[in-house]
Amino acid sequence: MTAILSNLQAVRRAVTEASVAAGRRSDAVHLLAVSKTFPAVSVREAYQAGQTAFGENYLQEALDKIETLRDLPLEWHFIGPIQSNKTRPIAEHFDWVHSVDRLKIAERLSAQRPESMLPLNICLQVNVSGEESKSGVTPQDVMQLAREVAQLPRLQLRGLMAIPAPADDPVLQRAPFVQMHALLETLNAQGMQLDTLSMGMSHDFAVAIQEGATIVRVGTAIFGNRNYGGEL
Ligand SMILES: *Cc1c(COP(=O)(O)O)cnc(C)c1O
Repeated sequence: MTAILSNLQAVRRAVTEASVAAGRRSDAVHLLAVSKTFPAVSVREAYQAGQTAFGENYLQEALDKIETLRDLPLEWHFIGPIQSNKTRPIAEHFDWVHSVDRLKIAERLSAQRPESMLPLNICLQVNVSGEESKSGVTPQDVMQLAREVAQLPRLQLRGLMAIPAPADDPVLQRAPFVQMHALLETLNAQGMQLDTLSMGMSHDFAVAIQEGATIVRVGTAIFGNRNYGGEL
């Protein structure tokens, strides 16, 4: 058995266990395999182990892999920071974008989404308490942004995404996930119909699932440690 296959089996088992323990259906949580920095052969191997949804952060690297693997029926999710002059290839080659945090980016993605493709699935990245990166809309501004993005014709607003900083204290680790779930409920109470909470990574996906994650983004636990080669 290869490492990727056995890792995937272990992660799937842990996702199912966390879902059942939280009283959720095991199919309520989708596993996104984050393949950034890993070569196309690793993605192919994960596909052969039954994984079809993959997340990428770096556009050029992602486009190369998408091209190499176009013989496979894969679902590609862009989860990295977005520069406004790089939106077109994202609109043309991905199924989901998790990292939209301003209207200008959403407008460009909508305008550039080809008519021949389904609307692009969008999550708004929220900068919740404890967030490491500076990306993300503030919780105060997320309702306004959601209303505007929901109007864009070639996008399908699906929900919210966050990347909380890792925390050793279990209470601190849980807090941002609780906050995200509450935010989603607030938006839905105001008439939005959002079904996605993209949160939880290798070190904290079980807690995220307990707090309502519907997509967990797992890299290291599937593919191993990343080696950035000093370039990224
Ligand atoms: C790299 C990355 C992940 C995966 O992180 P792991 O700790 O390797 O599981 C998830 N989400 C985003 C946005 C990432 O950049």
